[in-house]
Amino acid sequence: MAKIINGKEMAAQIRAEAALEAAQFARRYGRAPGLAVIIVGSDPASQIYVRNKHKACAACGISSQVIELPGDTGEKELLARVAALNEDAQTDGILVQLPLPEGIDKRKVISAVAPAKDVDVFHSLNVGMLTSGDYTLAPCTPSGVLEMLRRTGIVMEGRKCVMVGRSNLVGKPLALLMLEQNCTLTVCHSKTVDLKKECRQADILISAVGKPRLITGDMVKKGAVVIDIGINRLEDGSLCGDVDFEAAKKKASYITPVPGGVGPMTVAMLMKNTVRAAFAAMEKKEK
Ligand code: NDP
Repeated sequence: MAKIINGKEMAAQIRAEAALEAAQFARRYGRAPGLAVIIVGSDPASQIYVRNKHKACAACGISSQVIELPGDTGEKELLARVAALNEDAQTDGILVQLPLPEGIDKRKVISAVAPAKDVDVFHSLNVGMLTSGDYTLAPCTPSGVLEMLRRTGIVMEGRKCVMVGRSNLVGKPLALLMLEQNCTLTVCHSKTVDLKKECRQADILISAVGKPRLITGDMVKKGAVVIDIGINRLEDGSLCGDVDFEAAKKKASYITPVPGGVGPMTVAMLMKNTVRAAFAAMEKKEK
């Protein structure tokens, strides 16, 4: 029977570390690290995410500014807000909550964020740095998964990792990070011919798809580590991941639950990234 990796506990630990680092930053530079979040419109899920980030900042000693703009805000106005935050010396991290309303070019907005303040790591320059392995910030969910594996003491070098999902947000950057850990990597997607066969090879099986029970028990190799990034809402309102948890936990050595697995790690890593961006900016100024 698999050991459950407790993401809630691990995230709390990471947030406590971020709080210590934020306090260190404040002692050294006389101000708290600062995160600015822009939200356009009233998408209820986005509002919950933004509220959670704001609360996490408060608990970590990071000053957070939420800029709420009406749903009919134009691209020009949004770009001007981003430009102002790029220039603001108190703002170390900028996050534009997605999705944006129709009519606003997401790529244009992401590209407008100063790369040094891009704590979501969406800017193409930062994505390029991630590809080359020469980076300060890694995207929050992928780096949260890596942190979970590290802190659980999972050996990655030389092991077969199968990444199911190749989105720019999760699958692709996480695949890069696993490759950097010297895993032998397979990336699967909707056009993969025999997903079961691929998954059964995995020592470390990671799913980021968004389909309940896509990964069934017979797709899990005995002793594999199973990381479930998927978040799906079922008809009865409950949450589940991509993995058939009950079946997979009988075969896996370690497994993450949903909820309480990867989910809480994302905001914790955002706290880390904000503090990291703050230190990097100040250290650059001092040079
Ligand atoms: P996307 O929809 O952008 O990407 C889904 C990926 O899954 C695509 O690469 C797609 O392939 C692939 N896919 C779809 N169907 C299949 C299939 N039958 N077999 C194999 N691969 C398939 O989603 P995201 O990456 O943004 O998110 C994935 C999941 O992770 C979602 O449930 C989301 O809610 C969750 N999530 C969780 C976070 C957390 O904090 N825990 C943070 C971010 C996301 P193709 O490229 O061919 O279309």
